Amino acid sequence: MEDRYGRAITYLRLSVTELCNLRCRYCMPEEGLCKKRHEEMLTEEEMIQAVRAAAELGVTKLRITGGEPLVKKNILSICEKAGQVPGIRELCLTTNGTLLPGLAQPLRQAGVSRVNISLDTLDEEKYRYITRIGNLDQAIAGIESALENFDKVKINAVLIGGFNDDEIRDLAELTLRYPVDFRFIELMPMHESEEFGPKAYVPGQEVLARLPELSPVSSDGGVASLYRLPGGLGNIGLISAVSNHFCADCNRIRLTADGKLKPCLHSSQEIPIKGLDYQGMLAAMEQAILSKPAAHPRLSASEISESGRDMNQIGG
Ligand code: SAM
Ligand code: SF4
Repeated sequence: MEDRYGRAITYLRLSVTELCNLRCRYCMPEEGLCKKRHEEMLTEEEMIQAVRAAAELGVTKLRITGGEPLVKKNILSICEKAGQVPGIRELCLTTNGTLLPGLAQPLRQAGVSRVNISLDTLDEEKYRYITRIGNLDQAIAGIESALENFDKVKINAVLIGGFNDDEIRDLAELTLRYPVDFRFIELMPMHESEEFGPKAYVPGQEVLARLPELSPVSSDGGVASLYRLPGGLGNIGLISAVSNHFCADCNRIRLTADGKLKPCLHSSQEIPIKGLDYQGMLAAMEQAILSKPAAHPRLSASEISESGRDMNQIGG
């Protein structure tokens, strides 16, 4: 279905949980969350019903996200059922990778065709720092098991000034070692933060300045501008969500784990679907698509997102 600006909405990002086994400093609070009541969250049946409604309106691509989707007990069942919804042609998943060693193969069997893994640093101590509790070896083991089980693996890093801008080359050179695409994502200011505010913002262009040997590659239809290192086995992508937003080409809607449709990542508008029957969800989904704004409210290194949620409560 097209929105009011002629954009075909074909992509749903479904967050299956707000919970996570890591605590990335730019994403969620240290103490974790004030856990919402079970009754407030979408059930598996409601999630699948929402995917059916989205598919009926023309959504063909589904990404499962979170929080960390792999901490969800029924993740395999959700993936299997969602992937079987008529009309869904691509089932993808975004994860921090740490639980992939035990789950990559069953996820593949459940119908997941692609995984994106988040990895902001190759330094063990820095990994522990940024995730507050994580272990780099587990994330690397996750990447390796993803490569054994999936044809397409992408690794994503959020560019953070003073934290990993000195690792741009090392991170990009993962594409020389592994057949992966590596993407640098601009840090989005989701709330007031001394550490992850304007001083930590690094524009995606900085990657081009640091890696002058990158050559442009034609777009794969996604939101990243693509490049390749000489001898690279995969592409380097820049996702410049802040410096060069891609609202005019936005084809997505989001559904949060607590049952709110978000027509735009950075707007506070939310349409609740918890408890609705199929026809109600279909109507809510149509309303979400028709109320997608032409572009998100102002967002820059110093202008905070109006979303009103942390990223783990949206799904990225
Ligand atoms: N836990 C999974 C993971 O980390 O991949 C999925 C959920 S996580 C919220 C999805 C993506 O959002 C991750 O790649 C993460 O780095 C990114 N993210 C979180 N906070 C962000 C921020 N403030 N700016 C840019 N990206 C952010
Ligand atoms: Fe968890 Fe992903 Fe947020 Fe890190 S970015 S805290 S792994 S949800």
